[in-house]
Amino acid sequence: MPVDVPSRIRFLTEDSLLCLDWSDGQSLEIPFRALRQLCPCASCVSETTGQRVLDPDSVPTDIHPTNVSHTGSYALKIIWSDGHDTGLFTWEYLNEIGKAIEQLENDDAD
Ligand SMILES: [Zn+2]
Repeated sequence: MPVDVPSRIRFLTEDSLLCLDWSDGQSLEIPFRALRQLCPCASCVSETTGQRVLDPDSVPTDIHPTNVSHTGSYALKIIWSDGHDTGLFTWEYLNEIGKAIEQLENDDAD
């Protein structure tokens, strides 16, 4: 099933959140730090083993995007305050991690 393009994308710098609204009315929030920790690029995830090589604890707590651009119509390219600039976040991937984070928060509430 193809994933929608978000109808609205907001970078809430004061809250350190990326907020995505989808055409089905769902809203997903992804903290900047979690987004950086989940960067899917080849220097953060091994292409051969699929293992994450980035140490999540090495990501600064005040990490934030310094520049964001669209890549085609399918992804966001984010340049981070730690200088990392090779991550492409497809809509599908953003939808997936947004839902995973929402699930984690629901689990915490139980
Ligand atoms: Zn990366």
